[in-house]
Amino acid sequence: MNDIYILKGSLQHYQWGGGHYLPALLGFPEQTNQHYAEWWLGAHPSSPSMLEIDGNWQPLTAFLAENPTALGNDSRKKFGNQLPYLLKILDVEKPLSIQLHPTKQQAEAGFARENAAGIALNAPTRTYKDDNHKPEMMIALSDFWLLHGFKPKADIIAALNARPSLAALAEKLTVQDLHSFYADIMQASQAQLADWLHPIITHNNSAYAADRLTPDNPDYWVLYSMSAMDIRPDKLDPGLICFYLFNIVHTRPGEGIYQDAGIPHAYLRGQNIELMACSDNVIRGGLTPKHVDIAQLLQVVDCREVAPKIIPAAPHDRAQFTYSTPAQDFALTHLRYAAADRLHGQAHSAEIVLVMQGAVKIASTHSTLTLTQGESAFICADTHYVIDAVRAGYAVVAKLP
Ligand SMILES: [Zn+2]
Repeated sequence: MNDIYILKGSLQHYQWGGGHYLPALLGFPEQTNQHYAEWWLGAHPSSPSMLEIDGNWQPLTAFLAENPTALGNDSRKKFGNQLPYLLKILDVEKPLSIQLHPTKQQAEAGFARENAAGIALNAPTRTYKDDNHKPEMMIALSDFWLLHGFKPKADIIAALNARPSLAALAEKLTVQDLHSFYADIMQASQAQLADWLHPIITHNNSAYAADRLTPDNPDYWVLYSMSAMDIRPDKLDPGLICFYLFNIVHTRPGEGIYQDAGIPHAYLRGQNIELMACSDNVIRGGLTPKHVDIAQLLQVVDCREVAPKIIPAAPHDRAQFTYSTPAQDFALTHLRYAAADRLHGQAHSAEIVLVMQGAVKIASTHSTLTLTQGESAFICADTHYVIDAVRAGYAVVAKLP
């Protein structure tokens, strides 16, 4: 029996996705006016990857149901007969909504509660799509901008105080905890949002248009989001205030960040690799025209002050490098190769390898296949394999720590 298989991911055409990046990386023709937001590699039931067996394509979910030993003993003991992680490539052309993810316990309770209430899995009012938590890490493929966690309270107060229309909010925060402060903002009336934001928009319009605002300035992102997300001045989004509350983080290509349960975050611009626990549980917290479930949001949001921890890029002199995160559900290894280099691998759990650049031949005792840029393979647990680089480049491997 083979132990390495060609794996084909699936596209997600969310409106915030760009039109060119994924077609160019993955090598397929782009259609006009199509959004290519995410490329998924994994076994999430809503969009499983396809595995090639003797010329036939089978969903990875079905393959694992028939061949659970492919996951490996340790993985099955911890995570059952499911692939624990999901690997993605994202092209963020327009900002995503502010979001956060539940803990395992919150997800199990929420999923059971919505099932009992008879809310269909695909209903727009459904929050919990599965019963899993969703810690996630990302590695930037370009300069990448995101919101990540609340700033220290003193920094928030300073940012608010520096803008006359937000000074009253600064005063309010000196006597209020962040949790109820955030709740009040998320429930502010349109008139209140206009009082806070219209003076800022008017004051910064010409500087923004002349490209004189820098992306470390929250005012920049208020104007950028309004333009990119088509937010009208008479239909303001309370999430716009979050640019003054959350850390604005810039990661350079190769650098990453880890999002733990409850940490509010929003991807603003750029491309990245994401690796997460296999879940689609997202609680929205602003910058969205969709309904925000305030009760759920306030139950799950972690309002602790966060000092963003940038995960350093893979060193240039290392052929294999595994990024460090606290996650138990996944790990990401970076493989760097010059032409004719040989690397050895031992899969302790099921692995997914994705060639980001160049080409490699992967061989085990039972299988041999060649992967070029954008192509990927599923490697069964307990497989020893050899990677021979055909053309210089790099690949990423998703697995368990
Ligand atoms: Zn997320």
